Amino acid sequence: MEQVKLLIVGAGAAGLSAAMSAWDAGCRDILIADRSSIPGGVLPRCIHAGFGLTAFGEELCGPEYAERLLAGLVSTGVRLSLGTEVLSVSRGKTALLSCRGCVSLLHFEHLILASGCREKGIGALPVAGTRPAGIFTAGQAQEMINLRHQDLGGEVLILGSGDLGMIIARRFVLEGKHVIAVLEQADTFGGMARNYRRCIEAYQIPLRCRMTVGKIHGQGRISGVTAVHLDSGEQEFIACDTLVTALGLISERTLVQGLESSPWLSLAGNCSRVYDMVDSAVSQAQHIGREVGASLL
Ligand SMILES: Cc1cc2nc3c(=O)[nH]c(=O)nc-3n(C[C@H](O)[C@H](O)[C@H](O)COP(=O)(O)OP(=O)(O)OC[C@H]3O[C@@H](n4cnc5c(N)ncnc54)[C@H](O)[C@@H]3O)c2cc1C
Repeated sequence: MEQVKLLIVGAGAAGLSAAMSAWDAGCRDILIADRSSIPGGVLPRCIHAGFGLTAFGEELCGPEYAERLLAGLVSTGVRLSLGTEVLSVSRGKTALLSCRGCVSLLHFEHLILASGCREKGIGALPVAGTRPAGIFTAGQAQEMINLRHQDLGGEVLILGSGDLGMIIARRFVLEGKHVIAVLEQADTFGGMARNYRRCIEAYQIPLRCRMTVGKIHGQGRISGVTAVHLDSGEQEFIACDTLVTALGLISERTLVQGLESSPWLSLAGNCSRVYDMVDSAVSQAQHIGREVGASLL
């Protein structure tokens, strides 16, 4: 069975940073595995500016931030295995890897889980009606538009005004689409004020607070939703051909369920807790990388 001292699951900002710090701390046998064919985690699809003010003292877009992290790794001997999914991890410090149709076992001394987070989908809400095509999470929409250049629809309704919801609303406008509104259940937008100014105000996108979606309409493709005014209970039909949900993120730790207290396991970045800013995820991951790297000497 192949062996590695330090296995890192995830080549996002956290995984790359943890690897760099572990290398700097003296660990010389590090493998990063990521299921994606491109490194950087969510960064490559975040083509908006707003990354790196603390870490690099300048405002970068996501792909630029990922390039900086990757540039730091080039001179090290850290191995990066893309297109490699870690399917399971066992108590005996063995990981089951799948790469290009081949499955293999890898024994490690320490595992840093840097698997990011997942999005809550429409299933997280008690929404009635059908589940036709045209419903996406904000992250899916970002990936499909920014990386695959796909056309998702023309009349777009966004549910949720966190940073992701506001950023994707602006993205649709920049793509020439009509954003009907961003619906928000709270009294005000959920994300950073900076994103409200840059994405909602600047593009005059209607933000409708104290509202949610109660029912989805459409066969085949979504044709509209019944929106509910939370204070009055009043209902309103809003026609749309695309519904994008931005309902929040959950740390992704499924891989190590039941193993969380193992001494050979550390969590880095968004899988430990959801960080709004990449610099904070990186700083936490660097700390973990340094500690783990030094402990493996
Ligand atoms: C839409 C959006 C906008 C943002 N905007 C900003 C901003 O403007 N400014 C800012 O500072 N921050 C922003 N952030 C936050 C920042 O991008 C994140 O906090 C940070 O990039 C998270 O890094 P991570 O490495 O923890 O997770 P991720 O980037 O999610 O990386 C996790 C990686 O793990 C891999 N993985 C997961 N499970 C497995 C497995 N079983 N096997 C193999 N690989 C696996 C995934 O493929 C992925 O590549 C934004 C985040 C999002 C989602």
